Amino acid sequence: MLVTGGNRGIGLAIARAFAKAGDRVTVTYRSGEPPADLAAVRCDVTDPEQVERAFTEVEAAQGDVQVLVANAGITRDTLLLRMTEADRDEVLDTNLAGVFRVTRRALPNMVHARWGRLVYISSAIAMVGSRGQTNYAASKAAQVGLARSLAWELGPRNITANVVAPGLIDTGMATALPQRRRAEFLDMTPLGRAGTAEEVAAVVRFLASEDASYVTGALLPVSGGLGMGH
Ligand code: NDP
Repeated sequence: MLVTGGNRGIGLAIARAFAKAGDRVTVTYRSGEPPADLAAVRCDVTDPEQVERAFTEVEAAQGDVQVLVANAGITRDTLLLRMTEADRDEVLDTNLAGVFRVTRRALPNMVHARWGRLVYISSAIAMVGSRGQTNYAASKAAQVGLARSLAWELGPRNITANVVAPGLIDTGMATALPQRRRAEFLDMTPLGRAGTAEEVAAVVRFLASEDASYVTGALLPVSGGLGMGH
């Protein structure tokens, strides 16, 4: 299995959860050092050539990617009135086009095997919206349309496509939030606390497992209730 952006935060917790269960796991990393305890390939998901090279390396070392977790994501938060073309494009290119790229590259082998699991790490914000995050929310909401269309295209091949929508999770992205915004998110969260990356990983593992063989096109919140009902 392959986790994009698996060198830290939620992606790393997901990769470690699968590795602990005995799966063959590779993570992608873009900058910095890869984790010492996992196989890793360098990949910037905005670069089609790097995506191609990363998959070729993974296939040589580990075999076909049967489970793909598209987790790499960024924010460039600001009000739309102040948002530059670059703020918008970088977020869409990473969070949306990046998911298209890795999915497109993983699919032929999944189709051939007549088995595959696509899991996209979206956000609860995709459904409720968030001031200053139009680019991010739009990119994350679009992942739902992508997954649900793929559920139709790939259902006959026994490939599922599901979306996980984390709420406030205490990792890189959330720790960068201003304290006031963090408090607002907690007020919107019935469980009244931030979640852990391990709590997201457990749900991703379920979606990749045989126990979830009849689950596709689903949007699963792991949000302490933030955004529930959407
Ligand atoms: P982090 O900022 O800790 O990690 C983001 C990861 O994505 C890093 O590994 C980063 O690599 C990688 N990445 C970013 N851009 C690219 C790129 N162009 N190509 C390849 N990899 C890239 O974030 P979190 O762990 O907090 O979040 C992970 C995912 O979960 C994201 O998609 C995020 O939107 C989503 N999420 C997070 C929430 C939270 O509260 N934390 C809430 C809801 C959703 P590098 O180390 O090189 O920067």
